[in-house]
Amino acid sequence: MSKIRILSDALASQVAAGEVVERPAAVVRELVENSLDAGATHIEVAVSRGGSSLIRVTDNGSGMVREDAMLSIERHATSKIKTKEDLAAIYTFGFRGEALPSIASVGRFRLLTRETNALSGTEIEIHGGKLIAVRDSGCAPGTSIELRSLFYNVPARRKFLRTESTEWAHVEQQFRLHAIANPQVAFTLIKDDEPVFHLPATENMMERIRGLVGDELAQRLLPVMEVERFGVAIHGFIGGPGFSRSNKQMQLTFLNGRCIESPSLHYGVREGYHTTLMKGQYPVTFLFVRMDPHAYDVNVHPAKKEVRFHDGNAVREAMSRAIQDTLNRSRALPQGHPTGRSVPFVPEDKAEPIIPIVPPPQQVELPIPVAEKSALRRDWSELPVAPSPAVRVSPAPAIEQEVAPPAAHFVPSAPPTPPVAQPSTPKQPGDEFKILGVLGKLYVLMESPEGLVLMDQHAAHERVLFEKMRTAMETEGVPTQRLLMPLMLHVSPRDYELLSRNLPSLAKLGIEAEPFGANTLKIDTLPTFMRTDDPAALLSQVVDELASLSSKSSSLRLGEDMIATTVCRHAVKANDHLREPELASLIRDLMQCEMPYCCPHGRPTLIQISYGELDKKFGRRAP
Ligand code: ADP
Ligand code: MG
Repeated sequence: MSKIRILSDALASQVAAGEVVERPAAVVRELVENSLDAGATHIEVAVSRGGSSLIRVTDNGSGMVREDAMLSIERHATSKIKTKEDLAAIYTFGFRGEALPSIASVGRFRLLTRETNALSGTEIEIHGGKLIAVRDSGCAPGTSIELRSLFYNVPARRKFLRTESTEWAHVEQQFRLHAIANPQVAFTLIKDDEPVFHLPATENMMERIRGLVGDELAQRLLPVMEVERFGVAIHGFIGGPGFSRSNKQMQLTFLNGRCIESPSLHYGVREGYHTTLMKGQYPVTFLFVRMDPHAYDVNVHPAKKEVRFHDGNAVREAMSRAIQDTLNRSRALPQGHPTGRSVPFVPEDKAEPIIPIVPPPQQVELPIPVAEKSALRRDWSELPVAPSPAVRVSPAPAIEQEVAPPAAHFVPSAPPTPPVAQPSTPKQPGDEFKILGVLGKLYVLMESPEGLVLMDQHAAHERVLFEKMRTAMETEGVPTQRLLMPLMLHVSPRDYELLSRNLPSLAKLGIEAEPFGANTLKIDTLPTFMRTDDPAALLSQVVDELASLSSKSSSLRLGEDMIATTVCRHAVKANDHLREPELASLIRDLMQCEMPYCCPHGRPTLIQISYGELDKKFGRRAP
């Protein structure tokens, strides 16, 4: 007897639902995407008991006539693509025609829909994939889709639901992603009958972000000016140097309006931040990538979260450069920018003496939380109530327990304008700091016009050495030592090939090598700043770096990590006693660095506690 049989439609939908509808947040994603595809300008998401009791998405989009409504719940029924050519470039969120039948197969489903000018609408009820009723309905124009008792008929799946609060947190995160990607659409989120967000439509991306994450975080973001490189246009907002999170929840990248994950984007972001990001930390990004939909394939993941780029390297490189440019620019922000604060030094051009242009303002308050304060905060969830017009009504639990973000630290910004008077003697960068003493043989206490500044002397020295070494490498090449006896290094065939292809890059690093055949490299020189007792270890580090660099990445990036580790060994340590003139010159050198605010490993070098912050702590001013 034959054993193979065709699955019934209901069962096939449940199987497909396993991929599409893994949890309430996924239902929300699919329904909101449908509403967006239907051209809605207002979308309301309502969820009860973490989604297990109710998920309802209501929109004012195109609606459907009865015939389409009946088709929409059939498997592989879609209005969005017709031919296989359409699949090569997808302009809509949906295209698989799978979501509605999948959703209808795993709960009590009700669809209400009415085309704008139709006399009446249609109501369809389906329980566990079984059609229960189709009737006329006097509903509002648009579509409302409701799913109650999620997984009531699939107990095995129900068991996999996490706690209500966890599922809710995922729903909320999903909602945020849609809301950020579509500021032109008004969004409402309702939890257990209580409104949580009401976000009016806006043309202003920053306003939408602020509505979702609160003022405090929003004002620490730097704008990424849109530039197109290799056919990839990128714009948005990112956290400045040293501003990071311990999880990826706020490293958001959108591709043509779709929030996606992709190694090319991820590595591009990391490469862009490079030495300004601490190990194990994730940056905060709201980045929007626009590119021709022919240049990638979204049809690789049932939840459409991943894409495959035809030229991943171009995307990675464009991303990395967009971030680098923004971080570099952040040293000289124009006034009035969200993060534009009055920090009185902006050593923009290292060749020119730096002159603080006007006396610092009388009362300066940097909206930067101090360490303990930020330790109490958790990402997204416990951010302050969003300002009007966006209303954040109630707090909610975070998806995962968080580790506190690192201490907030100095963010560069512009000098106050306009220029008033030039002091007669040109001042040096760092002159505005008055050294008060050294705490715990490590932290240099300084007074600035704006309050207290703490400098980690070790981290600061690391940054200074790092930039000196990098400049040397970029200009005259690193100092090398010629070995008395050339070193014969035997490596794996793969590494041999990689190293042989990159001899000029190696030379820049001070490693003169020659392929000697039989997977052996003859090494004549090594950089003086390297420990040479273990050249094999050094070379394997180089190989790792070479392998991790994209073909289009600047070869100057090569070696940065190595320099960073090396300088760490040479830099003054905690406990090293520095006399005041040495400290003063360290501060000056630091302030002349391209990126003075963090060490090459991304840790902060300077932390500021403003007078405003101190006043609050001592109860002189309401927090
Ligand atoms: P897909 O979105 O991949 O096409 P779905 O199963 O999600 O597949 O939806 C099937 C079809 O139902 C869509 O192609 C669309 O024509 C219609 N549809 C679904 N949701 C809505 C909505 N909110 N408003 C208007 N039409 C909708
Ligand atoms: Mg869909």
